[in-house]
Amino acid sequence: MYINGTWTEASRDASFDVINPADGSVLSQVFDGGADAARDAIDAAANAFKSWSKTTAYERSQILYRAYQLMLERKEDLAKTMTLEQGKPLRAARTEVQYGADFLLWFAEESKRIYGETIPSARADQRFIVAHQPVGVVAAITPWNYPVSMITRKVGPALAAGCTVVLKPAEATPLCAIKVFECLIDAGVPDGVINLVTGRDPAPIGEEFVSHPKVRKLTFTGSTAVGKMLAGKAASNMKRVSCELGGHAPFMVFEDADPVHAAKGAQLIKFLNTGQACISPNRMFVHASIAERFVEVLSERVIKLRAGSGLEDGVAIGPLVNEAAVGKVASQVDDAIAKGATLHCGGKRLTDGGLDKGFYYAPTVLSAITEDMLIYREETFGPVAAVMTFDDDMQALEMANDTNYGLAAYVYTRDIGRAMRMFEGLEFGIIGINDINPTSAAAPFGGMKDSGLGREGAREGIMEYLETKMGGFSI
Ligand code: ADP
Repeated sequence: MYINGTWTEASRDASFDVINPADGSVLSQVFDGGADAARDAIDAAANAFKSWSKTTAYERSQILYRAYQLMLERKEDLAKTMTLEQGKPLRAARTEVQYGADFLLWFAEESKRIYGETIPSARADQRFIVAHQPVGVVAAITPWNYPVSMITRKVGPALAAGCTVVLKPAEATPLCAIKVFECLIDAGVPDGVINLVTGRDPAPIGEEFVSHPKVRKLTFTGSTAVGKMLAGKAASNMKRVSCELGGHAPFMVFEDADPVHAAKGAQLIKFLNTGQACISPNRMFVHASIAERFVEVLSERVIKLRAGSGLEDGVAIGPLVNEAAVGKVASQVDDAIAKGATLHCGGKRLTDGGLDKGFYYAPTVLSAITEDMLIYREETFGPVAAVMTFDDDMQALEMANDTNYGLAAYVYTRDIGRAMRMFEGLEFGIIGINDINPTSAAAPFGGMKDSGLGREGAREGIMEYLETKMGGFSI
């Protein structure tokens, strides 16, 4: 835990274990903070806000740029820590560290572009000036699936805007948070400006975040259920809120698309991070005329994916985060099969070759998915590709939009008109058109409907941490 410039180590009576999901072993112990720690951290952040909010954009930019450089220098160490506590293969962990560092670079630049406006008045003796100022203390809560980049995506713009921060990382991945903080601290972020509260039980810390009068903004990434609960409480205290929540992404393959190319894309994006991503495709809608070929190529590729510890070469599928995640995936697959889905590969927990100690589920392909199955409605967060067919574009669009979620959607077509109709018709915040990686620090990330509020990254990302102040001047 790191409050007001001081680290607090785990102690005998206040600590919790960090588990390696690849083999269930204990990696480390971390301080178990609660409501008191959260209050101390908020006070420290409120105090530091007085001076940090007065620094120039150029000073803040330089610190963020230095933190960006340090993250890249320490990429290997950060990536290894991530693989150990979160499970993703080392190559994917390195990619995430780069993505995480990119937010620091992007917002180092954006801090210098917090422009205001002058507005003409109807009165000759009046001038209007609009300026943007930092909102104040930001409380941030981050998830375990992208344990580095979800932190920099919040802390980067908050610091760039002149805000101070209290972060509560996910209880499964505090070690990555500690290492990101070390980069920021070594880059020169002053005491009290960033504070880290680790804890086994998130509820009392979250309660402080949404009720403490000195917190001006809550930024949350995690499940829709927790996000809605926290956003509701924060709203009743008139705090600003941004939320990046669950997804249920459609992956649409139209009749003019190349089914082989689309199947390759589907495999790459669906099984990334073992399916534990909010932008992971959860329902694949494939035109009936090419569905057989699509499923054949997808299955051939998925069967070859090797599961195991992310530290081993050639491993593409790491463990799921915990036992409950394995249970959830298994229940969705079993439900689909019981209701008539066809299983092409996978469909079971993996236990051979020592995998029984970790939380592994075999990469799975199902077809003949129907609307009555759990997987049609619920986010899976696991390595399962669920395919259903369609005959008509508008029917496919309706099914794609038939969800409370609205984060990411993917479209494969070679017809520009069809691509544009889907781009406009899909009720999702991020649309990949023949593109399985529609994300970047430079591009706005966020969802509609139950997938959240606000956008992260891009020009929009910094606005979430700024107030608009208007001055009318009589001269
Ligand atoms: P997931 O199912 O992906 O773990 P959660 O929404 O439970 O999603 O977790 C995302 C983040 O929200 C984590 O940092 C977690 O500790 C935190 N969290 C979970 N429950 C609460 C709560 N009641 N109050 C505050 N934070 C919470």
